[in-house]
Amino acid sequence: MATIFTRIVQGEIPCYKIAEDDNFLAFLDINPLQEGHTLVIPKKEVNYIFDIEDDLHAGLWNFAKKVAKALEKVIPCQRIGVTVIGLEVPHAHIHLIPLKTMFDMDFKRSKLTFTPEEFKSIADRIAKLV
Ligand code: AMP
Repeated sequence: MATIFTRIVQGEIPCYKIAEDDNFLAFLDINPLQEGHTLVIPKKEVNYIFDIEDDLHAGLWNFAKKVAKALEKVIPCQRIGVTVIGLEVPHAHIHLIPLKTMFDMDFKRSKLTFTPEEFKSIADRIAKLV
């Protein structure tokens, strides 16, 4: 069965899109730890990030770098934290999280809530700079 992220890639499920090209997609995490918490995925469905073939894997990180550079201009932060977990959704993804302190990346913290309009506004502001 297709992962939820493949269903987003195929347009079956909506997302707050930040950027995409032929191979990659970046969109806001729906349960963000911080404003601007973004997921970057390969469109090709591969469960584990280190099983992605080399060129696509390098491309994923280059794409994430471009998104991170836009993110840090829009969301006040010290830098963009990066993590890969993948225990919930079996489709490789990189979390990009704007950080003011190291505790901002603690996944045990309660998640933020935004209205659809707020999510869209955040995504649009970042998207303009990618
Ligand atoms: P993990 O697989 O542990 O890295 O976590 C998966 C992440 O995907 C979590 O932070 C979820 O909030 C996020 N997530 C799950 N479904 C969606 C969705 N439909 N749109 C955006 N983010 C999602």
